[in-house]
Amino acid sequence: MTDRVGAAVVSVGNELLNGETVDTNSAWIGRRLTGMGIEIRRRFTVADDAGEIRTAVREGIESADLVIVSGGLGPTRDDLTRPAVAEMFGRTLRVNDALLEALRARFRARGLDELPPSNITQAEIPEGAVVFENAYGTAPGLAVETDAAVVVLLPGVPREMRGIFDDHVRLYLRERFTDRLTAIEHRVIHTTGVPESRLGELLEGALPPADDAVRVAFLPDLRGVDLRLTATAPDAELARRLLDEAEASIAPVVVPWRFIAESGDIVEAVTDALLGRGWRMAVAESCTGGLIGKRMTDRAGASEIFRGGVIAYDNFVKMNVLGVSPDALEAHGAVSEEVAAQMATGACRRFETELGIGVTGVAGPGGGSRTKPVGTVWIASAHEGGVVTELHRFVGDRRAVRERAAQAALALALGALQG
Ligand code: AMP
Ligand code: MG
Repeated sequence: MTDRVGAAVVSVGNELLNGETVDTNSAWIGRRLTGMGIEIRRRFTVADDAGEIRTAVREGIESADLVIVSGGLGPTRDDLTRPAVAEMFGRTLRVNDALLEALRARFRARGLDELPPSNITQAEIPEGAVVFENAYGTAPGLAVETDAAVVVLLPGVPREMRGIFDDHVRLYLRERFTDRLTAIEHRVIHTTGVPESRLGELLEGALPPADDAVRVAFLPDLRGVDLRLTATAPDAELARRLLDEAEASIAPVVVPWRFIAESGDIVEAVTDALLGRGWRMAVAESCTGGLIGKRMTDRAGASEIFRGGVIAYDNFVKMNVLGVSPDALEAHGAVSEEVAAQMATGACRRFETELGIGVTGVAGPGGGSRTKPVGTVWIASAHEGGVVTELHRFVGDRRAVRERAAQAALALALGALQG
């Protein structure tokens, strides 16, 4: 396999450095190039300063075959990218007649006969540069080709930058680097309920070697850990086959925690499982305060599988709406296995559903005790086959505990549905 094409991305603008504007161009360009099989090696953000722009481009060329610069192509005096790059490659700036005429036409269409002098500079291009028409604004995109690298200049306005890239630059790069571009395919394996470090240990032997054609990234958040597999191969077919192989060796290890969902949300898996069984679900939520119901109903068409729920925050509600026994509350406390189980069965009974979920816990920051510290959460799932309960000790602040508890309850429900 040939060397990957490498790219550096340079964003130009004082507003990007001082935080007034968030640099979305670099991320967008990164995704586009990655999708084409081009590897992003460096990223620079520099001021509207000719010296800084040149330094970034020069350093970019050191590690990359391609440098994409966005910003600083406007008509005002702080737009320095074009002269800075022209100078560093010893190319003079010359007015391009076709561009000048196109600019004139653009202004005439707006009822302006005279082209403002500042706009004439936008028709100036470095000698020998490739011009990419801008159908969205006045500054065209440019490519300066040197022995060491290709330097592409694009306007900073995201709409223009994206438009020019998709209309012209993509094709240009395809042709220019054709024999070195590779296919890249991704696949994501979703897990929940297992810490990243543990998953890493368990997968030690199952993962492809670090330098192989398949790379694995662990992406954790409050709801779980995604394993993102990236395969690089001469063509897409082969890349997909590499992913199949990698997935086949990972799959047996992650069985207890894996869920399948296009959206990445376990709610999708729970919904599919409920639909598959023709079941409906109800929830009894204490510490999650309706979070599970909210997530279940975020999906359109939820009424087919979700009947409703009770926010049983106070014991009054646990007893009077869900039928939790005062004895259980008295003997074990609100955060207990018995109460979680009775909440789940109570939800089934009240809502006449096949599946019920109960959650009760200490979300914090207050309310913890020695035996039930903040983060202690009991969850239960009930159906005709019985009640399953789980004790969790979640870490994090109130928001994290609630988010983790809702996710764990959904995972428990999924397990019950699949079991
Ligand atoms: P310029 O081409 O430097 O005149 O940029 C024009 C406008 O595009 C700026 O005022 C910003 O609002 C926006 N812009 C420039 N660079 C970026 C970037 N990297 N990400 C997002 N917006 C940008
Ligand atoms: Mg600017």
